[in-house]
Amino acid sequence: MNKLLVANWKMNPTTAREAIKLAKASNHKNVVICPPFPFLNAVKKNITAASLGAQDVFWESPPAGGGAYTGEVSPAMLKNAGARYVIIGHSERRRYVGETDGMINKKVLATLFAGLKVILCVGEPKAVRKNGLAAAKAFVKKQLLADTRGAHGKLIVAYEPVWAIGSGTPDDPKDTAEMARFIRNLLKSSKIDVVVIYGGSVTSKNIGRIMSYGEIGGALVGGASLHSHEFKTMIQIVSHKK
Ligand code: PEP
Repeated sequence: MNKLLVANWKMNPTTAREAIKLAKASNHKNVVICPPFPFLNAVKKNITAASLGAQDVFWESPPAGGGAYTGEVSPAMLKNAGARYVIIGHSERRRYVGETDGMINKKVLATLFAGLKVILCVGEPKAVRKNGLAAAKAFVKKQLLADTRGAHGKLIVAYEPVWAIGSGTPDDPKDTAEMARFIRNLLKSSKIDVVVIYGGSVTSKNIGRIMSYGEIGGALVGGASLHSHEFKTMIQIVSHKK
């Protein structure tokens, strides 16, 4: 089982010292560590097996290397900092920062163009899911087609039902597997080669069952990735050591 584990630390921890400790404990070849921007460098210096990822990116990447975009970080900057992956379109950014599918699409294109791997987050809110899986699929289809317009190459899609994130209630893995098949079929006719991973309240207690489905290529882990013992156990489970 060669599953990808993406550690999304969100806006944690608060010091480089804590970030380094956590990075060392999460250092495994199947892991992508996505710290906040200020810790990219410190994490990079302290991992030998894991890959580095960012939690966001800006869509402008001027040929001169920089530009007048206060507060933003370009794909080129992330690449130079040693990142190989970028999370784009996380539901928290859609919700709190007002990211639209149009903005997300521009980020996806700029990131792929820079040669970085995109982890594109999609997923439906509770109000949609209560109308059933078919309604969730229609919601995800709309997001995906808008977010990937004009894209080609390899893409990691993180299916993250919004209601499952940080709630303690993951999606039923059977439904996740069906959604993963749906996403793969949807992108089949485009030039996108997709791996679907799942995110939403994944822990050491449920990861084995979720990952037992061949359609699910890994997990995006938020809260549990901040607890080194818990995350190490998850790594061992997906690496078949437990
Ligand atoms: C996430 O940050 O995308 C996430 C899935 O969080 P959690 O694992 O805490 O639900």
